[in-house]
Amino acid sequence: MIRVRFAPSPTGDLHVGGARTALFNWLYARHLGGTFILRIEDTDGARNTEEAARGILKGLRWLGLDWDEGPDVGGDYGPYFQSQRKSIYAAYFAKLEAAGRVYTEDNGAVRFKFSRTSITVHDLVCGDVTFAPTEEPDMTIRRPDGSYIFHFVNVVDDIEMRMTHVFRGEDHLSNTWKHIDLFNALGATPPTYAHIPLILNPDGTKMSKRDEGSAIEKSYMHEGFLPEAVFNYLAMLGWTPRTEGEKLSSEALVSLFDPAEIHSSNARFDMHKCQWFNAQYLRELSPEALLAAARPFLDKAGLSITNDAIAAAAVFSVKEKVSHLTEIPAWVHYFFREDYSYENDVVTKLKAKPENTTLLNAAASALATLIDWTEVSIQTAIEEAAKIASVKAGALMPLLRFALSGQARGPGVTTIAHLIGQSSTLRRIERTVLML
Ligand code: GLU
Repeated sequence: MIRVRFAPSPTGDLHVGGARTALFNWLYARHLGGTFILRIEDTDGARNTEEAARGILKGLRWLGLDWDEGPDVGGDYGPYFQSQRKSIYAAYFAKLEAAGRVYTEDNGAVRFKFSRTSITVHDLVCGDVTFAPTEEPDMTIRRPDGSYIFHFVNVVDDIEMRMTHVFRGEDHLSNTWKHIDLFNALGATPPTYAHIPLILNPDGTKMSKRDEGSAIEKSYMHEGFLPEAVFNYLAMLGWTPRTEGEKLSSEALVSLFDPAEIHSSNARFDMHKCQWFNAQYLRELSPEALLAAARPFLDKAGLSITNDAIAAAAVFSVKEKVSHLTEIPAWVHYFFREDYSYENDVVTKLKAKPENTTLLNAAASALATLIDWTEVSIQTAIEEAAKIASVKAGALMPLLRFALSGQARGPGVTTIAHLIGQSSTLRRIERTVLML
């Protein structure tokens, strides 16, 4: 039975690198029907915060990564916070003592005696990596204050939690021999490792906290990305599934996942690509799903929704125009308020031609007579008004769109008019005529 884990240290926001590590572990567990565990490595009291731990959980959940054991869900091998596992570490520490593998320094720190043999990591991504017998000083595993250091607790928990595989960032590869040395000293079999290449910025520098696209919450959740798009993008950052096309659902990614296909070279982060994925996913949502996703952003923009069906149709009418949910309010605000403003440069242009008011009045008269307010009847009325005024319907449409929305670009005029209703349509035309 496969058991894998994501083991973040809660020092800050969930970073794309961490999210992708979690995702690869999750894909592997789901692919093989294994168990995915979340373990919070919070032994560093000075740097770890509960807020960061909460943020990590929130980010993982947003991405759709659920864990079978861990915080909030429990499990047979808990607690899943390292800060609550001191007695377990003490028991393992006693084992090393009994095996004569530790000694105490004058200052009270305790060191682990390295075996000083050659150690090979059989890595699923990096292949066999052999470390020559070390010349480093023995490793401190317990501080004078009695707290244990990362390498020790990480190994103890991987033993105790029965991990079979460890997918983690390549930055840990150089220390893996220390972990294997500890596993051996504790009489345990090390898991199979898969060290995932790092994520670099587009310019090839190492991605850090401050770089574009680095934090899941700030760069994606707040910026109007859909979780399924980010999931898809991150899965392919360092892995190329053997299939046609790139837009793949999480189910498809689960069934295709193969660690042997993880790239051994570093991945380059590409925000445009991620945005492209997002636009593709946005376009596929139903009106209701798009409204559900857009709602927090509409709320934030102060647009109050009184009719869900109209709001859903309104956001749906602009889905081809946006790649982020954050862009939606600017495209649809006039569906939710009558006091929308007009784009200034267009007003100037329209004012230059007095016949524009005549045209708008002609359209208003035709629309006022309609009894059935459907897109078809609206279209016919506008065409007739254009005919009477001897202009092309194509010339009248932009003028009407501007009157109804204050904007030069947007969805079709009949769609807008239909959604806002007849009386609002007539009021808006009148308001525009008075302004021109
Ligand atoms: N807490 C470590 C980190 O955040 C985890 C290392 C591991 O996955 O073994 O980098």
